Amino acid sequence: MSGADGGVLTTCPYCGVGCGVRVPAADAAVQGDVTHPANGGRLCVKGSTLHETLVPQGRLLQPLQRVAESGPDALQPLAWDAALDRVAGRFARTIAEHGPDSVAFYVSGQLLTEDYYVANKLMKGYIGSGNIDTNSRLCMSSAVAGHKRAFGEDVVPGCYEDFELADLIVLVGSNTAWCHPVLYQRIVAAKERRPALKLVVVDPRRTPTCDLADLHLPLRPGSDVPLFNGLLAWLAAHGAVDRDFVDGHTRGVDAALAVARDSAGDLDALAGQCGVQRERLEAFYALFAATEKTVTLFSQGVNQSGQGTDKVNSIINCHLLSGRIGRPGMGPFSMTGQPNAMGGREVGGLANTLAAHLDFAEPAQRALVQRFWASPRIAERPGLKAVDLFEAVHAGRIKAIWIVATNPVVSLPDADRVREALRRCEFVVVSDVVQHTDTAQLAHLLLPALAWGEKDGTVTNSERCISRQRAFRPAPGEARADWWAFAGVAARMGWADAFAYDTPAAIFDEHARLSAFENDGGRRFDLRGLAGLTRAEYDALAPIRWPVLERGQGTDRLYGDGRFSHVDGRAVFVPTAPVAPAHAPDAAYPLVLNTGRVRDQWHTMTRTGLAPTLGGHLPEPYVDLHPADALACGVRDGGLARVISRWGSLVVRVRSSGELRRGQIFVPIHWNDQFASDARVGALVNPVVDPHSGEPEFKHTPVRVEEFRADWHGLAYTRGTVDLQRLAWWVRVQTTAAQRYEFAGRGVIADRAQWARAFLGVDEPAPDWIEYRDDGSGVYHAAYIRDGRLQACLYIAPREMLPARDWFAGLFERLRLSLRDRASLMAAEPFTGGADAGPQVCSCYKVGRNTIVKAIREQGLTTPRQVTACLKAGGNCGSCLPEIRGLLAECALVERAEPA
Ligand code: SF4
Repeated sequence: MSGADGGVLTTCPYCGVGCGVRVPAADAAVQGDVTHPANGGRLCVKGSTLHETLVPQGRLLQPLQRVAESGPDALQPLAWDAALDRVAGRFARTIAEHGPDSVAFYVSGQLLTEDYYVANKLMKGYIGSGNIDTNSRLCMSSAVAGHKRAFGEDVVPGCYEDFELADLIVLVGSNTAWCHPVLYQRIVAAKERRPALKLVVVDPRRTPTCDLADLHLPLRPGSDVPLFNGLLAWLAAHGAVDRDFVDGHTRGVDAALAVARDSAGDLDALAGQCGVQRERLEAFYALFAATEKTVTLFSQGVNQSGQGTDKVNSIINCHLLSGRIGRPGMGPFSMTGQPNAMGGREVGGLANTLAAHLDFAEPAQRALVQRFWASPRIAERPGLKAVDLFEAVHAGRIKAIWIVATNPVVSLPDADRVREALRRCEFVVVSDVVQHTDTAQLAHLLLPALAWGEKDGTVTNSERCISRQRAFRPAPGEARADWWAFAGVAARMGWADAFAYDTPAAIFDEHARLSAFENDGGRRFDLRGLAGLTRAEYDALAPIRWPVLERGQGTDRLYGDGRFSHVDGRAVFVPTAPVAPAHAPDAAYPLVLNTGRVRDQWHTMTRTGLAPTLGGHLPEPYVDLHPADALACGVRDGGLARVISRWGSLVVRVRSSGELRRGQIFVPIHWNDQFASDARVGALVNPVVDPHSGEPEFKHTPVRVEEFRADWHGLAYTRGTVDLQRLAWWVRVQTTAAQRYEFAGRGVIADRAQWARAFLGVDEPAPDWIEYRDDGSGVYHAAYIRDGRLQACLYIAPREMLPARDWFAGLFERLRLSLRDRASLMAAEPFTGGADAGPQVCSCYKVGRNTIVKAIREQGLTTPRQVTACLKAGGNCGSCLPEIRGLLAECALVERAEPA
């Protein structure tokens, strides 16, 4: 569909906010869709640089099969027909020999609902196994389990507008400023309009989200259940109970309150347990008790836990006791990580759900789905959840697996074991957009998928809003939709009629009809108003929140009438007795590892790693820890450290941001073998899962940190490839016209010039090779220029003597280097083009730290608004505003300490 002013309206493929995007023309810079209810025209820096990811680099363009057991490049093209024959034949043979549970699909919250629907129907309704799970298991399956226990159905009762209508917003386990930036900007704007709106952040880290918080509770990792049990007991003790609501619309309050009082009734003990001052606890509880319009947003900090489901229910319990649910400006709110995590839940993409919010437990529900599909069989029981599923692959019980749009060798806990499981597996199919991922390297068969901008279908964001993702570019090479590949395999397995879809619109229609099939209102997930859309109506579908009972009429909120999805219509209080994390720190592993996202990267970087703008903010994987812990571990800010758990290790840069308290460390989830030598944090994470949801414990793994010793350090930019085997450690960063490498090595380099040429792949003698050497200090600079253009430059030095590097990338965009440019390269200082801007703070306008600090000092700026007016920094998505505020505070402190 075109916007009123032309261009294609589609949806951002990154986080669960689900922002509308307008594409003015293929390959042009994207814009926010001003008509979309999620973002009203805003985009964060990831969304606004989507066009930078639409590049051919690394694309998988045809089916490939591995012809030798070893070697990542031993791949041979084959036709789609042959590829689908091979998948169908191998799956059919495995099923015939070992039964339906010997095969599995592992899919993704990146899939469109239509892809998801077909995959789920094939596995559960035709193959007859529950073994389809999704990477959304790692993200929000605890919220799903919590919703089902409390409400009787996986329903998010509210919508984003509630954040603007609330008087109190509690953000729990969510660095919203970085992970859901547009929603955070909506909250910031609401608070600016209405300063009385209070913001409480519950998070062990002092993240950028705390920037605007009225109260931050830096609770001890794993103590969320005691915190909310304490709140429940407080509400009961202080008369903040909606007795009519509790009596008329819920059950189980006494048992939940008994557990809450027993486990968290003593505030002094509770304060000690949570590691938070008693006064802060009381301030939070009093604020919650006094504020009718309260929204509690929770995200991965709650879900990714061995007790994630109980954490979710401990939050919901407080909203049920106070009757604050389903009405404007109030309610518990689960933010999903991925763009279509909720779409996957709708179709049954999780191994323990069936389809259309129906379940395995009820024979009648299984029969209903089978009847609708007219399928030969239906899975009788839930399949294996992600961690167990790969364990079954490791054990050889699952012998064939099809992995679609996800990278489990990076993202799952105990990821080295997952890698080993896939090495052992008899048949691994990987469908992906890019050819080289850590998981694709283990595939027997690679299938080329459509990327964002090429695929066509729907997604559902965190507020139940179904939006179209529209194609605006032709499919490159032989890339095809995932639903088409699943349907092709189904046809070859003998079920052509049931999978005879010709368009995503036909699949969506079937999905909508299933949601309404024999649904007398017991299932709130109901799209009957979207059934029977014509192709043109589907193409033009405007964002709409489910349930949709009438054409064009969505639903903003659910459960406001106090009628829940349990058979008796009541919501359920779930008693939540606190359980300590499975693995406690000890003398060998004294620190607690927390993992999460950074502002400008997404998942395993297969897309964001291509965008030069996004590589500037935090270009390297890092471990963040308290300076005192760094000292105790013998590592220093800016150095390299090895982080080790019982399950694995990695090597990353040390960073002491001041966000963490002693005893805790943080490592981002994104980096993998394609971008760094040794930075898969999944390899360290304990494979502990929540007993209800199966969601892994990504927030609490005992680790230790040690210095990673290197004899020399280096930096290189190159248009070509480099010989990574020569290095002990490296990181690759995409810039506009070159790749940047940070690296370190061991031993002595006898001849630096020879080493540098070999590393950069420059033939000897290089006609335009310039160099500077200072053997006394161990410094070596070299640049390779061809036809006046810079091809590569390289710097080797003790770490502290490596140059500031953010200006080098610009030299690769020049058609001809000047003499001053050449001199700059050797001096490693910019003689032309102004001063070094410093590390990137504002990615949207590429404004560096040094530039901002200079403007603050020289122009006496005191507010973020003034910085934006002066430099534009912070004026687009606003994700960098917390950092700008930090720089303003830093400069003010320095000024106070050193008055002019
Ligand atoms: S907030 Fe999320 S959905 Fe919106 S533009 Fe950013 S990444 Fe995309």
